[in-house]
Amino acid sequence: MAGAFAFKGCQKIRGQQIRNLLEAKDFFLFDCDGVLWHGEKEITGAAKVVNSLIRNGKNVVFVTNNCTRPRENYMHKFTRLGFHEVMLEQIFSSSYCSALYLRDVVKVPGQVFVMGCEALRRELQEAGIACVEETDEPDATIYNCALAPDVKAVLVGHDDQLTFLKLAKASCYLKDPECLFLATDNDPWHPLSGGRVLPGSGALAAALEVASGRKATVIGKPSRFMFECISSQFSALDPAQCLMVGDRLEVDMLFGSNCGLDTMLTLTGVSQIEEAHKYRNSDLSTNHSLVPNYVVDTIADFLPAFEDEEERRKRRRRRRTRRRRRTTEVLF
Ligand SMILES: [Mg+2]
Repeated sequence: MAGAFAFKGCQKIRGQQIRNLLEAKDFFLFDCDGVLWHGEKEITGAAKVVNSLIRNGKNVVFVTNNCTRPRENYMHKFTRLGFHEVMLEQIFSSSYCSALYLRDVVKVPGQVFVMGCEALRRELQEAGIACVEETDEPDATIYNCALAPDVKAVLVGHDDQLTFLKLAKASCYLKDPECLFLATDNDPWHPLSGGRVLPGSGALAAALEVASGRKATVIGKPSRFMFECISSQFSALDPAQCLMVGDRLEVDMLFGSNCGLDTMLTLTGVSQIEEAHKYRNSDLSTNHSLVPNYVVDTIADFLPAFEDEEERRKRRRRRRTRRRRRTTEVLF
């Protein structure tokens, strides 16, 4: 079905075009921040759209590079914001996928040093992966601190408690070429209200890349590994039946392209349509992978399609009731 719709042209769609796309696709992958919510505030209509897709029998999963909360906490957030149909199995965060990578793909044979937040450590520990305990005295330095002997991987994620000592320790562990170097994601920054920015995992990974002279393997979007995690848990997943919906060209749209999915940009988050046009018009062919197939102002643009369907269902119900009444009148 992809062929009927797929051309990379930032096509702004609405009404019947959205209806056709929703009918054509069976599997919807949603980024969260900037698509479904901003912080603790739902993007108006997002919960209704997601709940309606699930009720209409579509497969829906959430793919987020945000590694600052375990999946359980995500579940609470979905429920709190009105996404009542969402189940734990539908949530694929970069911390959860990092745990799967360490446990199932590389089968890490020792401890993992986490340069990230507590939530990331918890996700790894839940998967049965041993993490190095931070037990340094407050006055410890890289000259006198203890280093664990069996560290087989360093994992970098968002870390708002980052210290110079942590960075120095991670650099020491990476001197061993057998020690893996992973990053939950490569997001450079995240927008905050009032025009402020929060440095992302990519900023921390870059610091460690420079210090270690090595390159991190990225687990989250735009790497294909997250899609492989989803494929391993949803049998017969056909990329041609999928739509990736996100707000960041360099992360979400590139992820979709890397995995062979049709992509949709929502304009409620980081990227603007002018940037997408720039990539589309670029002479550099690699930039074309960042161009979405479709663009909507907001995910709420899906709503009329469901409302029409609801209206059709109500009309069918009314017709059936009228027919039943007529039959009853004839019988008596
Ligand atoms: Mg986002």
